[in-house]
Amino acid sequence: METVIVLLTRDLRVHDNPALAEACEQARHVVPLFVVDPAIEPRHRADFLYAALHDLRGRLRELGGDLVVRHGEPVAEAIKLARQVEAGGIWAAADVSAFARRREERLADACAGERLDFRLFQGLTVVPPGDLVPIGGDHYRVFTPYWRAWSQAPKRRVLDPPAQVRLPAKVATGSLPEPSRNPFGLLKGGETEGRRHLDEWLRGGLAGYAEGRDLAAGRTSMLSPYLRFGCVSPIEVVARSADRPGGEEYVRQLCWRDFYYQVAHAFPELPRRDYRPRRAKWEDDEEAAEAWRQGMTGVPIVDAGMRQLRAEGWMHNRLRMIVGSFLTKRLGVDWRVGADHFNDLLLDADIPNNCGNWQWVAGTGNDTRPNRVLNPLRQAKKVDPDGECVRRYVPELADLPGSVVHEPWRHPARVPGYPAPMLNERLLS
Ligand code: FAD
Repeated sequence: METVIVLLTRDLRVHDNPALAEACEQARHVVPLFVVDPAIEPRHRADFLYAALHDLRGRLRELGGDLVVRHGEPVAEAIKLARQVEAGGIWAAADVSAFARRREERLADACAGERLDFRLFQGLTVVPPGDLVPIGGDHYRVFTPYWRAWSQAPKRRVLDPPAQVRLPAKVATGSLPEPSRNPFGLLKGGETEGRRHLDEWLRGGLAGYAEGRDLAAGRTSMLSPYLRFGCVSPIEVVARSADRPGGEEYVRQLCWRDFYYQVAHAFPELPRRDYRPRRAKWEDDEEAAEAWRQGMTGVPIVDAGMRQLRAEGWMHNRLRMIVGSFLTKRLGVDWRVGADHFNDLLLDADIPNNCGNWQWVAGTGNDTRPNRVLNPLRQAKKVDPDGECVRRYVPELADLPGSVVHEPWRHPARVPGYPAPMLNERLLS
């Protein structure tokens, strides 16, 4: 084929990118295209995304190509560009959300109308959603049997970056938005940063993962935002970590990601509808929800997590579980309120993981014990035994001694500026 457009979406990398690799093998000219879609408001993720796009542009230039950027509706822009460069096809990575799948369908129809070759490539997950199905079902509802099947499933080999990317003559590359001067979030976007993170993690973090991963101050890979935007490939992460010390526990967590993707694939209403219908009504308590969002519940471990989210665009997994359980099971507020707030602020927010985990925490999802309630105080002492995390994110409490930091209401002096707990002590302990 003379020219192929590779429409990049959540696969912002040159390593292990099946659509890009295949296009560079098959076509004489390749146009790597990203369309900045005003309908998708990246909110706090904009800086991460734009940094990732700049990085990708640099990597493609090193390979002799470039990143072509357009602004507008992706299907219309891709088709317009295909006419301009006389492309023979538009290829892309398959996604799972209902929104992305509608876009894929529209693109497929538009390509058919223009007689363009349209192809989707798998690479968003390690095992493509829908590939593994239990006997008598269309997807796995419970993690452990999925993990067993997933562990045994054949995995695709990791693909090298293309040797060369040859753009057709006279294609305008287009302008790319700049990240702001004070970018939001703890992490900088891009394949270069993602790969650096991965290398460091494999060298210095993975071996201690099983012991440290449930401690709020313990180290985890922090690769989730890079996986979210496809700056690193999940297949490569698994391939490089599986056989190292700590690898099995780590790969099991990555399998949770695939698990929720296959749930979202089979149940596209996941972002809005209860996966497991719930009879009780949620409390309509905006005041409580707002105190939770602001990290002003008076429960230190909850406030630490919520303030970390606001400051860094990231939160430790245990804290996500604690704040989620607190909102839904203690305050009785609808999980969608929590998922929307996470979606606003998390660098790694995506529909399958965010909504899948929220539904798990709220008891409407895939938890086999949907009625479990996490006790915030007991959890605090377990995940933050020295109070390090609370002291870092709730500075009002920094001077409280020992474990009183988790129960400031036990301290004889009231801490100025810090609220009394929203729930009475009986519910907290
Ligand atoms: P590590 O512990 O280093 O794990 C490695 C990778 O495994 C992660 O990057 C992630 O891709 C995957 N993983 C780990 N735990 C989970 C899990 N419970 N579910 C799915 N995948 C997992 N993760 C997101 O990527 N996006 C979200 O929007 C998101 N929302 C969440 C909301 C709630 C209420 C909860 C309880 C969890 C949520 N998670 C989400 C899962 C998990 O908290 C993050 O993936 C993890 O904290 C990211 O940090 P890490 O990369 O250091 O994880």
